[in-house]
Amino acid sequence: MGNIRSLKCRECGKEYEPQFRYVCEECFGPLDVMYREISVNRHTFESREKTYWRYHELLPIADKNNIVSLNAGLTPLQRADRLGEKLGLSEVYVKNDSVNPTFSFKDRPAGVAVSRAKETKLKAVGCASTGNLASATAAHAAKAGLPCYIFAPSDIEHVKIAQALSYGAEFVAVEGTYDDANRIAAIIGESKGYGIVNINMRPYYVEGSKTLAYEVAEQLGWQVPDRLIIPVGSGAMLNAICKGFEELHALGFVDSVKHLKIIAAQPHGCAPIVDAFKRGGDEVIPVEKPDTIAKSLAIGDPGDGMYVLKRLRQYNGLAEEVNDGEIVNGILLLSKTEGIFTEPAGGVSVAVMKKLVEQGEIQKDEKVVCYVTGNGLKTTEAIIGVLPKLNVVKPDAAVISAMIR
Ligand SMILES: *Cc1c(COP(=O)(O)O)cnc(C)c1O
Ligand SMILES: [Zn+2]
Repeated sequence: MGNIRSLKCRECGKEYEPQFRYVCEECFGPLDVMYREISVNRHTFESREKTYWRYHELLPIADKNNIVSLNAGLTPLQRADRLGEKLGLSEVYVKNDSVNPTFSFKDRPAGVAVSRAKETKLKAVGCASTGNLASATAAHAAKAGLPCYIFAPSDIEHVKIAQALSYGAEFVAVEGTYDDANRIAAIIGESKGYGIVNINMRPYYVEGSKTLAYEVAEQLGWQVPDRLIIPVGSGAMLNAICKGFEELHALGFVDSVKHLKIIAAQPHGCAPIVDAFKRGGDEVIPVEKPDTIAKSLAIGDPGDGMYVLKRLRQYNGLAEEVNDGEIVNGILLLSKTEGIFTEPAGGVSVAVMKKLVEQGEIQKDEKVVCYVTGNGLKTTEAIIGVLPKLNVVKPDAAVISAMIR
């Protein structure tokens, strides 16, 4: 069984053998992977391969031979001085996860879940997706040689559909919202015994995203930043990042996590967690019809919403939303200052950071890490309308020379 000890209910604490199971049979709470004590130190990791599998002892795969790797992870933590200067911050970093093999952070959770599916000999995998998970799951399934079934709303970006299809996945375009696609995926996964990475394999899936905390700490010389800005859809990633920093603390890799402050960033057209936070409530009221250019974050009924609210209380948190115009400005601000072209989800992070600096919530001298989770090449339709129109000219140097300032 390797380092995996059990699956433990996040609500009532009941522990289960690490099988194909994802909710507690007593209370329907979500299950988290628990590990045996392991002996690792900082140096264990530092000399290893430059992928998130460098932390494999802390990931839920019993036998290394079952790892399905596209070499994702250990993405750049880019010091963003030009962006910082524009915002009035002295130490900002961008965790640039747009450069993963399928161009989003979803290669982390999908890679771990597909590896676990291989390890437990499931006959097929799949996912419910807002777009990026489709390609991440499909690509890892291709590498593993497993059939892959994607369930996604039919209105996601064309590139994301083309990309997933290219990896050989079967793509079910559901007429409806992400929540509709999710419900269908859950039923199919249950009835056919397929590993739906973000539903019935969720305990394993979420573990992949905690490497976003490990890497940032390692890249900062085993330090925990003061402030994180995290885009939120289902909330699984935010929760996993918190878990990651806590595990590093428990292992003695970092001194403290107490100073950490967390910001949840959502688009105005789908911000159920921000709404709940601002109401001061515990309950996340689902958004029936999400309407935003940040389609990756268009999850009306976020599975981990309640736990995000808990994390925000635990870590001096804030939650803020930005509208489509602000998101586009966030994309362009990042690309023009730092040379990083992100999709709207990354624009949400940047725009929320800008808004909260302007509101005086983020202080000038804080060490801030802004998570940029997906690539702009997947979503050019979101910004093409605000870019300068192309002026096609004859190949005449004199004319062109006169046109250029
Ligand atoms: C899925 C996704 C998110 C949100 O992650 P959750 O775990 O659903 O909160 C953020 N950014 C991008 C680019 C995504 O694809
Ligand atoms: Zn329980």
